[in-house]
Amino acid sequence: MALSRIAREVKTSATLAITARAKQLAAKGVDIIGFGAGEPDFDVPENVKNAAIKAIRDGHNKYTPTSGAPDLKEAIGEKLFKDNNLRYSPSQILVSAGAKQSILNVVLVVCDTGDEVIIPAPYWVSYPEMVIMAGAKPVFLNTSDKENFKITKDSLAKAITPKTKLLFMNSPGNPTGMVYTEKELREIICFAVEKGLYVISDEIYEKVLYDGARHVSPATFNEECYKKVITVNGFSKVYSMTGWRLGYAAGPEEIIKAATNIQDHTTSGANSVAQKAGVEALKGSQDSVVIMVKEFDKRRKYVIDRLNKIKGVSCLLPQGAFYAFPKVSDLYKRKIAGQSVTNSFDLVNLLLEKAYVAFVPGAPFGADDYIRISYATSMVNIEKGMERFEKFLMS
Ligand code: PMP
Ligand code: GLU
Repeated sequence: MALSRIAREVKTSATLAITARAKQLAAKGVDIIGFGAGEPDFDVPENVKNAAIKAIRDGHNKYTPTSGAPDLKEAIGEKLFKDNNLRYSPSQILVSAGAKQSILNVVLVVCDTGDEVIIPAPYWVSYPEMVIMAGAKPVFLNTSDKENFKITKDSLAKAITPKTKLLFMNSPGNPTGMVYTEKELREIICFAVEKGLYVISDEIYEKVLYDGARHVSPATFNEECYKKVITVNGFSKVYSMTGWRLGYAAGPEEIIKAATNIQDHTTSGANSVAQKAGVEALKGSQDSVVIMVKEFDKRRKYVIDRLNKIKGVSCLLPQGAFYAFPKVSDLYKRKIAGQSVTNSFDLVNLLLEKAYVAFVPGAPFGADDYIRISYATSMVNIEKGMERFEKFLMS
C-alpha cells in the first residue's frame, strides 16, 4: 500500500525512541542507566497533584472550551504578564495537549506548501518534522560549539529568501542548553520581524537557568515583534508534568483563532483535569521549581566536569535546560571495544548495547558530531553512567 506523503516523510522521534528502548531493556531486568529522556526525574508538586484529585471529585471531567478552560487561560495571562512582561487577553491564548501540540498548530496556521522555515541547528528533533507535516521546507542554520551554538543577525540574513515565512527560536535551548543574551536575541528577532517573518519562541525551559543567566521573551522587544512572535510554553519541564500533556501558545488573535480551529478537529483541547492542576501549578507555591533547578545545577557542573576529563570528548558549560551536548566526533576516528564507530548513532547504539548507558545521538538534532546527555536523573545514576562511559571508551 502506498502511504501518504506525511507518512513517508515524517520520521520517528529519536528522543522518545531511545527513552522507550532504555525502558524496554530495564523492564527485562537490564541495569540500564538512562540519559535519554528530556523529562525531569522530580515528581509533580504535591499541591498540583491535590488540585487534580479535587478537580475529578468536583466534576471537572467534561470537555473544556477547545482553546482552554477560562480559569487556566486567565492564570496563563497573569503568568505571562508577571514573568515575561507580556500582555495577552484570553482570546490570544491557546491551551493544548503539550507545548508540542501548540507548536504544530501554529506551524500549520502560518506555513503553506513550499514556504521555508529557518531552524537554527542543533534543534529540538520535532521542529523539522512539524514543518514537513505542513508541507513546508526546513532550512537549517548550522552552528557549532565554536559559536556557542548561537546564530546571529548576519548568519540569519544569509538564510532568508523570498520564501521564508517563519523562524524557530528556543532559548534556553534543547539540546545545547545555550541561552541567548537579551542583546543577541533582540538583534536577531527585530531583524527577522523587519524582514516580515513570523517567529515561534519556544520558552519551555525559561526557568531552568544557571549562573545568573536571564530569560527574555522576544515578543516584548517592540510592537512589531508583539505582532509577529508567538510565545510557546508549557508545564512539562518546570512542573515535571510531562505525562499530563499541557502546554500553551500566546500571540496574535488571528493566529490563535486559526490554531484553535485546527485543535477543534484534532484533540478538542487539553485534558480538563490537567488544566485545573495547571491553574494550581501557576498560582501556587513555586518552591519546587527553585529546589529542582538547584539540584540540576549540581548535576550540570559534575557532568560537564567529568565529560571534559574524557579524552576525545569536549563539552561547553550550558547555561540553561538540563542537557549536556558534548562533542564526540574525535571518537569516530578510532575503534571502540573492537568496533568501528563512524557517527553518533554508532556510538550511542554501542554504548546502549555494551555499556548499558542510554544517550541520544546528535544526528536527529542536526549535529552528528555530538551526543545529548540529559542529566534529569539522580546523582547516583549520573556517577555510575559517567563511570561506564569513561571505562567503555578505554576498552
Ligand atoms: N519544546 C522543547 C524545546 C522541548 O524540549 C519539548 C520537550 N518536551 C517540548 C517543546 C514539548 O513539550 P511538551 O509537549 O511536553 O509540553
Ligand atoms: N522534549 C523532550 C526531549 O527532548 C521529551 C521528548 C520529546 O518530546 O521529544 O527529550
